[in-house]
Amino acid sequence: MAVVETRKLTKVFKRGHLGAVNNVDLESREGEFLVLLGPSGSGKTTLLRMIAGLEEPTSGDILIGGKVVNDLTPRERRIAMVFQSYALYPHLSVYNNIVFPLKAQGVDKEGQRKQAEWATSLLGIQHLFERKPRELSGGERQRVALARAIVREPSVFLLDEPLSNLDAKLRASAREELEQFQKRLGTTTIYVTHDQVEAMAMGDRVVVMSQGVVRQIGTPTEVYDEPADTFVATFLGSPPMNIIPAEGVIAGFRPEHFLPPGVAERMGAHVSYDFHITHSEYLGAERILYGAIQGGPFDQHRVISRIPATHDADLADGSVHTFAVADRDLKFFDPQTEKRTTVRRLPS
Ligand code: ATP
Repeated sequence: MAVVETRKLTKVFKRGHLGAVNNVDLESREGEFLVLLGPSGSGKTTLLRMIAGLEEPTSGDILIGGKVVNDLTPRERRIAMVFQSYALYPHLSVYNNIVFPLKAQGVDKEGQRKQAEWATSLLGIQHLFERKPRELSGGERQRVALARAIVREPSVFLLDEPLSNLDAKLRASAREELEQFQKRLGTTTIYVTHDQVEAMAMGDRVVVMSQGVVRQIGTPTEVYDEPADTFVATFLGSPPMNIIPAEGVIAGFRPEHFLPPGVAERMGAHVSYDFHITHSEYLGAERILYGAIQGGPFDQHRVISRIPATHDADLADGSVHTFAVADRDLKFFDPQTEKRTTVRRLPS
């Protein structure tokens, strides 16, 4: 187990251009599952590749287990990496794919077998040893790639969108499996994804990135409930947080906190708005209501509400109802910097 740290880590691919990664300060905890989350092009892969030793930093340091590793090769860093494409050797059996890194290191046959058994016992794929990669399902291939990555007992595990080739249903089960596997293994893991559900579900902490910059690092609850800026507030959550630029401040509240008549009375201090519902989506467990606020400081601003489908009020398209947000669920952002502000001023 080791801690990964980056200090002012920067990568500029083209001189004079904006960096793909800019001054990133990061510190994982021992055994932690740390997720790098951000939209396409936000620098996640570049950051991971620098930690792995596959990309040279323009400036800054990478530390593993407290030691600067900038000048060490990937192998010397004792990291293992799994990519989106599992890159298994098609002509080798599952067993030979798994022990390949050990063979390359000159580990004897007995040692190879022991390590392969240990690695696969965590993944339940020993019955597949004799098969070729083409005879495996996507989920099985993914497990073989994981086994091959851990067989050398790396001190750090780096994963770049390893589940993105799986279909939606398999993804959900593979997600849980991978999470359990990491907990049993106890190896510090850094995981790249652009999928916020994956990040929230799997991460001990989430690093939210955009344009090569870290916007916020926190537990899933922290980044969701206490977003540091409007980018984090809207990147996490589906539908995203309602963001309303008003006089002197930007207000924000999540769709699930914009509640229909009958609920407001029970929620303590709150503010109310007339909500003109234009259309709605029924999603089985919940209903998403789209529309605009009528009157007051937020007049005509489009907002979204998300309510349990069991809510029995008549909320027809075209109707207007008084919806409410509890004071504690209203967030405020500075209009210049778009960062969270403690100034709790609601325009009236
Ligand atoms: P994705 O989710 O699409 O993989 P990402 O967040 O991992 O995105 P990166 O792949 O790290 O983003 O890319 C960050 C930025 O650096 C992008 O603007 C990309 O075009 C640029 N970039 C990445 N690799 C190179 C390269 N080898 N040469 C030049 N520019 C690059």
